[in-house]
Amino acid sequence: MLRFMVRSFASLAISSAYSIPIGLSSVTSILDEDTIIERVCYGYLKCNATCSTEIVIVNYSITLNMSDDVVVKLLNDGYFSLDAGAYFGVVPKAIWSRKFQEIDNTVRLATNVLYITESDGTSILVDSGIGNKFDDKFRKIYRVEKQSDIYEYIRLHGDPNSVRMIINSHLHFDHVGHNADFKNAYAYAQADEFKAARYRNYITKANYRLSASQIKNKVEIGGSKRINGFIRVIKTDGHTPGHQVILINAGGRKIMYFGDIVPSTFHLKLPYRTAIDLDPLKTIEFKKNLVKMAIRENYICIFNHDVETPAAILSGDYSDPKYVKVDI
Ligand SMILES: [Zn+2]
Ligand SMILES: [Zn+2]
Repeated sequence: MLRFMVRSFASLAISSAYSIPIGLSSVTSILDEDTIIERVCYGYLKCNATCSTEIVIVNYSITLNMSDDVVVKLLNDGYFSLDAGAYFGVVPKAIWSRKFQEIDNTVRLATNVLYITESDGTSILVDSGIGNKFDDKFRKIYRVEKQSDIYEYIRLHGDPNSVRMIINSHLHFDHVGHNADFKNAYAYAQADEFKAARYRNYITKANYRLSASQIKNKVEIGGSKRINGFIRVIKTDGHTPGHQVILINAGGRKIMYFGDIVPSTFHLKLPYRTAIDLDPLKTIEFKKNLVKMAIRENYICIFNHDVETPAAILSGDYSDPKYVKVDI
């Protein structure tokens, strides 16, 4: 129904290229058949030169006011599908298939990122999603769905030039997609991670599509460090040689961005990790300590690939914690 309404409106438009922001929040209640669109608040109409019009859903925008100075939004840059064996590793299909629906042996992943704005007008991204620069082959292999695009969201509701820092959990293609679009931003990743992306090997080359040399304005972090007054990173390795988890603490509220150490709530169980992890025992060791900390200190945990539960609070036993979904 939404698509019909929007297309009808768009057909009245002029024939030259245009882009019109629209607010969709008032119609979300009628979209009960599609959980992705249910959460969408904003979109825009796009028309190319020949006026084949389409609606582009820009994003859902879920906000947490950390303090008077810091606002964190959880944004989504679309979805893609990954081979189920790569995503679930040693977990038997008999177990994961109870929760996940497979399509041709693949499962659908979200790309959830954090967009942090400060009262001085500058902003920070934690990861930059899958982006929009891929050819048809890539789009087909990974079944990329771009209902959402973080760059378009920030262009319409903020200022891409205000993004000064992109803290990348690691440099796999689904985490650096928009890095190059934010011209004033520096990419903050571990020195070991830049090195791993630069010297790709037979195992890693499929996931490091953007070579480190293509990332301009880099800041190489050496280990676990404080980045600014309210953000620090913990170098975990495990998934990649320089993977890091990002911790935000502002106004007494705390957020933990797990990256691919715990990509979804399903992966909270201690032995569950992706088959892509280069050092699984390190993943498990850090996961254990980080989950303990998240339970103890009441962190809001962000699961960057979770379609159903991008954010949750954990409780119970660290080896198999309970979680309650939160809308931040
Ligand atoms: Zn990864
Ligand atoms: Zn990933």
